[in-house]
Parts: sequence; structure tokens; C-alpha cells
Amino acid sequence: MGLQSDSNMDDWQELEQKLFMRTVNRLPVTLVQGQGVRVWDSSGREYLDFVGGWGVNSLGHCHPVVVSALAKQAQTLIQASNQFYTIPQIQLAQLLVDNSCLDRVFFCNSGAEANEGAIKLARRYGKLHLNGAYEIITTYGSFHGRTLATVAATGQDRFQQPYIPLPDGFVNVNYDDIDAIKAVTTSRTCAVMVEPIQGEGGVNVPADDYLKQMRAWCDAKGILFILDEIQTGIGRIGSLFGYQQYGVEPDIMTLAKGLGSGVPIGALLCKERVSVFAPGEHGSTYGGNPLVCAASLAVLKFIIDNDLPAKVEEVGQYFKDRLQKLASKFEFISGIRGRGLLLALAFNDDIAEEIVLACLNRGLLVNRVKPDALRFMPPLVVTKSDIDEALGILEKVFQQRMR
Ligand SMILES: *Cc1c(COP(=O)(O)O)cnc(C)c1O
Repeated sequence: MGLQSDSNMDDWQELEQKLFMRTVNRLPVTLVQGQGVRVWDSSGREYLDFVGGWGVNSLGHCHPVVVSALAKQAQTLIQASNQFYTIPQIQLAQLLVDNSCLDRVFFCNSGAEANEGAIKLARRYGKLHLNGAYEIITTYGSFHGRTLATVAATGQDRFQQPYIPLPDGFVNVNYDDIDAIKAVTTSRTCAVMVEPIQGEGGVNVPADDYLKQMRAWCDAKGILFILDEIQTGIGRIGSLFGYQQYGVEPDIMTLAKGLGSGVPIGALLCKERVSVFAPGEHGSTYGGNPLVCAASLAVLKFIIDNDLPAKVEEVGQYFKDRLQKLASKFEFISGIRGRGLLLALAFNDDIAEEIVLACLNRGLLVNRVKPDALRFMPPLVVTKSDIDEALGILEKVFQQRMR
């Protein structure tokens, strides 16, 4: 198939329009290659990538550590089924347990699956230890995935409305409001589930003591405290896991995105006393498969050995300071949100789409997280000079808008 470089839509994009279910409005770029924080499209154009595979490519594109782990494991053992012991998943579980407050691990293939597992685990716990309590309190503006149960957990109308009736047993309350959680806790409640920072909801940072108060409430009521760290985990906000910045330990934690730096993997972790699944009660054909676990093990080892979370904190602060300076120059910027390398730039108006397209034209990939906000989630290995370059492009885009 010939590739056109001049027309707005290339042949691949036309073919996609014919073949794909219309679940997404893609940007008019066909990406064919990536290296570090750069990607290239089908016409050879280079972009600085501050979307990072949607907060996934923690080590950037095609990092040699990931590539060689994949290549080696691909020649050794790719899939074996969980009927048998395999080594990479055990090594990865060990590394996760050694470096977190959790004791046990279950591997799956995505964030939604990890949360689905967390929901099932909390319900099992409720049946066994809380007189059959099954309700889970979650928050408006959250995002927990696209399966029916995780959509019910996701407190956003636009994800729920098309699929009503949804599975029962979820109560959505306002985020960053501990009293709202207290008000809906009943004898039916088995758990509270939140993100340390709401990612898809717009990069919403709660009060510093929100998670601490939630932990205390869960302890007082004997219910489970679940943290969805699918976006905040694996160094993204400047610590290996988000909970470490808030002085709390969850009973259950879910991971995905940055854990594999591009290979599809999710993980469900829990404390020993919460590990109540019996054999046969949960499972996955591909979950924990040797290929993805070998890659993920290499990623996590690299992140820990090189203390990337500390680098994220430093470079993230630099990024935030630069954004602050930029914000002071343009009236239509209303604020900056986030921590580490999960940052958002908010506008007074719904101009994010227009800004995303203008950035694209100047070679910078950013995400429109809300109609009035951009989100930045570059690879954790992004440098200050990459950030300077991105800020330079943003400034030009904003100046052009003023003219
Ligand atoms: C992305 C995300 C999910 C869903 O992960 P998928 O891999 O897309 O299923 C769940 N929770 C949070 C906080 C996320 O950011």
C-alpha cells in the first residue's frame, strides 16, 4: 500500500474508517516508529511525545531494556497457561511485593481487568467477613475502566448512560469529600475505591489528608480501602506508588499502564489478610504470561535500580515551574494541576482540542483530557531539555492564538 505524505488523510486512515468500529475519534496521524520520547509518522515526520502511549511508555519508546527482554523471552517461552508455574511472573511478583506494602499479586492484561479483579476480591471479602456486604463506594470524575462493572464504578455519566442497566453495587460520591463517603457507608458497604489523583477525570488532586481520612474511616468500619494506581503508580507522580506520598497503605491496589512500558499487563495486589480468593474463583488465560512478565520485570527493575521516581519528582517540578511561568503570560490559561509527570494545563475556555491540533502541527503530541484542559504524561525518562522543547512549542502555539 502506497503512503501519501501530502494529503490530510493517508491510505491507512481511509482504510481504518472503513474497517473499524467507531469507538474513537483519532488524530490525523499514523505513527509507525518510536524511540525514547520521539515518534515518527508514516511520512517520516518527527514528534515529541508527551502522551507516551497514554501514560504507558514509562521508559519511552522501544527502550533497549524492554526490547532485549522481549526478544530473549520470545525465543524462550511465550505462553504456557497458569496451570503451570512459570518463572518471569514469580520474579515480577517478588519485585512488586518487595517494593510495596502489599503481600500478594494476581496478573491480568489491562487496567480494567485489574479493577474487575479488585471488585471481585472485595466482594469475596464481603461475603466471607462482612456479612455479605457487597457495595463499593467510588467517586464522580473517576475512571476505572470499560468493562460493565468498572463502568459502574466509574463515576462519569457519559461512560455509564449508553449501557444502563449496569451491574448493581456501586455508589458514586463527590471526589475529595470524606463526609460524602461517610454519609453513604452502610452495612452493605465492603470497600471504598479511589484514584490517589484522578487521571482521566482531569488530573484532579485531592486535599493532602483525603486518603488518610479515608484509610481511618475504612479501619473504623472494617471495610476495604482500594487504590486504583493504574495511572499514578510506577513512578508517575514521583514515588514508585502514589500512596507513598500520602502516608497510607491500601488493602488492595491495582496497576497497569506504566508497569509494562507498552506491553499489555495489569496487576492486582493485596494484603495477606485480604487474599481470600480460592482456587478457581478468578483467573486469566494470558494473565502473567512469560513474555509480558519478562518485559515488565525488566521495566520495573530499571525504574527501581535507577531511582526514576526521584528523577520524576525533580523533572516534574521543573516542568510545573515552567508551565507556571507560561501561564503568567497568557490570560486564557486558568491553572496547573498534578504531580510529578502527571500534569494538566487548564484554560478558561473549551480550547483544548484546538491547542492539541496546533501542537500536532508543530511536532508535539499532547492529550486533551477535558474540553478545557491539556494533560501531559511523557515517558518517565523525559529530560529537562525535552521539556524546554515542548514548552517552546506550547508558547509558540499560544502566541499564535493571541494574534
Ligand atoms: C487507564 C485507566 C484504567 C483502565 O485501564 P485499561 O488498561 O484501559 O483497561 C483504569 N483506571 C485508571 C485510573 C486508569 O487511568
